Amino acid sequence: MHKRVWMIATGSILVSCAYAALYGDPPDELHAWAVHDMNRPRPPVVIPGATPGQPPSDAIVLFDGTSLDEWVSDKDGSPCPWRIVDGAMEVVKGKGMIRTKRAFGDCQLHIEWRTPTVIEGSGQGRGNSGVFLMGTYELQVLDSWENDTYPDGMAGSIYAENPPLVNASRKPGEWQTYDIVFHQPRWEGDRLVRPGSITVFHNGVLVQDHWLFEGVSTHRRRTQPKRHEEKLPLKLQDHGNPVQFRNIWIREIPPPEGDYTTGPYRKKEAIAARRAETARMVREDAEKMLKAGQKVDGMRRLLESLIYVADPATLERGTAMVAAYVQEVSQLSGAAAEARKGEITGVLNDLDYLVRFQIAPGLQPHLEALRAFAQKQGWLKK
Ligand code: MG
Repeated sequence: MHKRVWMIATGSILVSCAYAALYGDPPDELHAWAVHDMNRPRPPVVIPGATPGQPPSDAIVLFDGTSLDEWVSDKDGSPCPWRIVDGAMEVVKGKGMIRTKRAFGDCQLHIEWRTPTVIEGSGQGRGNSGVFLMGTYELQVLDSWENDTYPDGMAGSIYAENPPLVNASRKPGEWQTYDIVFHQPRWEGDRLVRPGSITVFHNGVLVQDHWLFEGVSTHRRRTQPKRHEEKLPLKLQDHGNPVQFRNIWIREIPPPEGDYTTGPYRKKEAIAARRAETARMVREDAEKMLKAGQKVDGMRRLLESLIYVADPATLERGTAMVAAYVQEVSQLSGAAAEARKGEITGVLNDLDYLVRFQIAPGLQPHLEALRAFAQKQGWLKK
C-alpha cells in the first residue's frame, strides 16, 4: 500500500510523494472520495471468458451444453421437460415454459439461440420463443429473417412494448446472441419510484437502449406495471417451435442506486457516512504507522484523514505534530537536509493542499515556514 511514487505538481513545486494522497480535488457533500483517491475501494477482480461471450469467473452458468440441472418445468417444478440436442437445449412442443431453479433480480444475461433451419410457419408462428426476465418481462425470440410481423413482437423486441432499434437477425439455423443488462422496477410501497430498464445487444448490435418498461409483458393488451418479488426465476418460452438455446450464463449486478454514494441517486447522508468510514480507516492506518515508529508517514496519513472528516481532535493533534516537524527540519542544513528532500517536499505538498482547500487553514503559518525553508534549499522552481 502507498508504495507507488507519483510526481505531483503543486503550484510552483514538483514533488515526489510516497502515495497519491492529497492530490485531486477533495471529497465534498456530493463526493465521498477525492478525485484520483487511492483510498477508494478497488472493484472486485473478475476473470473474463477466454473469448467474448464465454462466461466470466463470477457468472452462474445456467446451461453449458451438458445438463438441464439448473432448469425445471414452469408448470409444476418437475425436471426440465426440454431436451438436449448436440449440446443445445431444445424446446419440446407442448411441454410448456421452463424456469431456472434459482431466482434473480438485476442481472447481466448472455444467451444464444437459433431458430430451425427449415422454415415453417410465418409471422409469430416462425421460430417463436422468448427470454422472460424475472419470468415477467419478455425479450422476444423469433425468426425475423425476412419474416414480417408486428414490430413490437419481432426478434429483439420487448414484447407488446418496443421494437428493436434495428433488425440484426441472422438467417434461420444460425446461432444468434443476446447480451442483456436488466434492472427491475423499484417500488416504495405501492408507488413505482423507478421503472425497470433493459439494454440488449443482438448479435453484438444495440437493439434496446436502456428501454424503460411500461409494465409486465402481455399480449394484445397495453402493458401495466405490477409489483412482484425482488427475485424471480428466469423463464424460456415454449411457443410450439423447436427453438434451441446454448451458452446461457448470468451475473447478478447491483441496482443502479448502488450504495447511494455515487451516480444519479446519491444521498448526502450516505456520502457523509462513507466519508466517516474512510476517515476512521485512514486514522487507524496512521496509528499503526506511528506505533511502528514511522513518524512522518504516520503524521501525513493522520492529516490525510481530515479531507474526509475534519475531526477536531485529529486536527489539533495533527497541527501539533506539524509544528514539531517544521521546527525540527528547519534546523537541518546541507547534506542532512538534502537527504530528506523527498520527504520534506511531500509534507509541503500536504500542507499546501490542506490550506488551499480550506481543510486545515490553521496550518498556514507552518506551510509558510516550510515553504521558506524549501525555498532556501533551492528546491522550489522559479
Ligand atoms: Mg415469444
